[in-house]
Amino acid sequence: MIILYWMQVRLTTMSSYMIKDNIKNVLDNIDKSLKNRDDKPCLIAVSKTKPVSMLLEAYEAGMRDFGENKVQEILAKYDKMPKDTRWHMIGHLQSNKVKYIIDKVCLIHSVDSEKLASVISKEAQKAGRVMPILIEVNIANEESKFGVSQEELPILIEKIKDLPGIRIEGLMCVAPYVDDPEENRQYFVILRQLLVDMISKNNDNILGKQLSMGMSGDYTVACEEGATYIRVGTSIFGERNYNQ
Ligand SMILES: *Cc1c(COP(=O)(O)O)cnc(C)c1O
Repeated sequence: MIILYWMQVRLTTMSSYMIKDNIKNVLDNIDKSLKNRDDKPCLIAVSKTKPVSMLLEAYEAGMRDFGENKVQEILAKYDKMPKDTRWHMIGHLQSNKVKYIIDKVCLIHSVDSEKLASVISKEAQKAGRVMPILIEVNIANEESKFGVSQEELPILIEKIKDLPGIRIEGLMCVAPYVDDPEENRQYFVILRQLLVDMISKNNDNILGKQLSMGMSGDYTVACEEGATYIRVGTSIFGERNYNQ
């Protein structure tokens, strides 16, 4: 019994040491990648599949921004985290689930259709708020990925820019899974350029300047290319086990 207890304590202290260390490590790497920038990107701890105990460890290490890709998981964790936790919806969102998170998330990163945008608009008005959103771009035209194509982007913006209750803060992408992060630099450059183009076309202030790009494998390159939100899971919490 005592030995088991001791092992449990050991394991808990070891893991909190690791999460705290991992966060510091990621923040250090971000700092090193900023070079010519004086604005700091916001680091989002992507906590999908991870238990609240681990989120709390990250919270204690200073993290306030957490990213989830399932509505169910946000709902399950929401009340168990401190009130000043900021939740980011980073995964594919079905229109019929918008109502459950409309008062709970600070930013929806994954808007890729007029239908979804109009439901968010409707629910946000009902909730008496303006919901900040990003438009997800399928930057490498991967079949397995969500998001609009580069060609569809201006069309979608045109359709949704006047909707009440939403504010388009910028663009988001999930770059391909690669071994060498340098391979993704081209995509981060394209996303930034797309945003610059969109802003100059729509000079009526309908678009923000946020770029949500970069994950565990490539966030330093994304930082170098101007990311303002970085979404890191594995490098903070370790590998995910989807079988649990
Ligand atoms: C899971 C996920 C991440 C984090 O991925 P890691 O490689 O674990 O850092 C970032 N963005 C999105 C949209 C995700 O689904």
